[in-house]
Amino acid sequence: MNLNDPSLLREAALVGRRWITAQEGESIPVTNPATGAILGHVPDLGAAETREAISVAAEAQKDWAARTAKERSDILRAWFDLMIAHRDDLGAILTAEQGKPLAEAKGEITYGASFIEWFAEEARRVRGDVIPGHGRDKRIVVLKQPIGVVGAITPWNFPNAMITRKAGPALAAGCAMVLKPAAQTPFSAIALAVLAERAGLPPGLFSVVTGSAAEIGGELTANPQVRKITFTGSTGVGAKLMAQSAPTIKKLGLELGGNAPFIVFDDADIDAAVEGAMIAKYRNNGQTCVCANRIYVQRSIYDAFAEKFRNAAARLKTGDGADDGVDVGPLIDEKAVSKVEEHIADAIAKGGHVTLGGQRHALGRTFFEVTVVTQASSDMALATEETFGPLAALFPFDAEEDVIRMANASEYGLASYFYARDHSRVWRVAEALEFGMVGVNTGLISTPEAPFGGIKSSGLGREGSHYGIEEFTEIKYVCLAVQ
Ligand code: ADP
Repeated sequence: MNLNDPSLLREAALVGRRWITAQEGESIPVTNPATGAILGHVPDLGAAETREAISVAAEAQKDWAARTAKERSDILRAWFDLMIAHRDDLGAILTAEQGKPLAEAKGEITYGASFIEWFAEEARRVRGDVIPGHGRDKRIVVLKQPIGVVGAITPWNFPNAMITRKAGPALAAGCAMVLKPAAQTPFSAIALAVLAERAGLPPGLFSVVTGSAAEIGGELTANPQVRKITFTGSTGVGAKLMAQSAPTIKKLGLELGGNAPFIVFDDADIDAAVEGAMIAKYRNNGQTCVCANRIYVQRSIYDAFAEKFRNAAARLKTGDGADDGVDVGPLIDEKAVSKVEEHIADAIAKGGHVTLGGQRHALGRTFFEVTVVTQASSDMALATEETFGPLAALFPFDAEEDVIRMANASEYGLASYFYARDHSRVWRVAEALEFGMVGVNTGLISTPEAPFGGIKSSGLGREGSHYGIEEFTEIKYVCLAVQ
């Protein structure tokens, strides 16, 4: 990999105030999913190093919290500037370890950096409250204070942005963070730590611990010095972390699985709906928790939509994300390929028609063909489980009530989308969908200004927006008696 600044690809973890290199002990290889090439190694660390990082973080956090919001804001702003200055390198590292096309990876860096920028701004707007007292002599003052040390566990699908969305508000609020990045994509996390150091973030405030998920996760959840766990990943692991956090009553932020419905009503602009569905479905090769997993199309426009959608999907080029003109990269691993294969086989067995793709890609490895299945139905596995791959399933529906019932018949409640023009229908449907987020006539809803998050098995709490920083604060009520 040709980097302008090769020091950004660092084979070391940051534990408290010290870097531990992969050469010092046991290490884990990191591979490029497009080629199988080993990019480098990271240290295989566990509970002891996590404990050290937490203890250093607890110490460093006190001074950090005591600084003015403007001081914290300035350092975060410097971090943002460095991320933007090194966007090309950060994007190249991300593509190499994750697989998404380079343009999309650079887009993620811009998106990821925007959370640091936003929370650098929000740092100065964490306001308390003064409430009229309950007696002539009483004054009620509400302070918002940083929650303390935060344990963060992040996934591989957005190796940069899922970190900044947590670290931005945590550090802005005056917290410290110990992060365990996904095993598949640690180099993006480490590069962020290198830049945080350069931006002047005080040592010890932001650790990146690589290694055993069970050991690091076990220590982060059990250690009483950690006051909050923020996690993005599967619902199964989220539930486990919640259970592990119960004995020490930690605050939790959980961004878990989704199974997003994407509804196209008969009054929609069909071309715009096709365009939105393409983005909502195939972004990151279908590997996002807000990807459209169930595309419901009203029967009168079903055939027209299905044909246009298939033709648009057929134009996507699959390949190594580092090559020019590639729209979708490989899947992250074999397990991901098996899941897509299972969902396709199950759909075919239950009456689905494959109108595009359906097979492993001729490129081999974990490349998979862009796939479209029509005549999907509620008894198929893809109707209730997240596919996390390039499979679009098109379900026909008749009435508005029917599709709302089908869309809500899911244990998940993260993102949802619909296309319609009738004003009353837009309000009715937006209010009826049991999801934390609704995209109306758009397939792209993530942005630092908005509260991202889900209900039901999709999680707890919100990330981004002014709500996002509140998640990293505790309310303290001070009752003043005035003589
Ligand atoms: P995905 O299926 O997207 O990889 P996971 O929930 O398995 O989602 O992984 C998300 C993150 O959770 C990763 O950083 C992974 O290493 C971590 N993880 C997985 N299992 C555990 C565990 N038992 N304890 C703590 N972290 C875990």
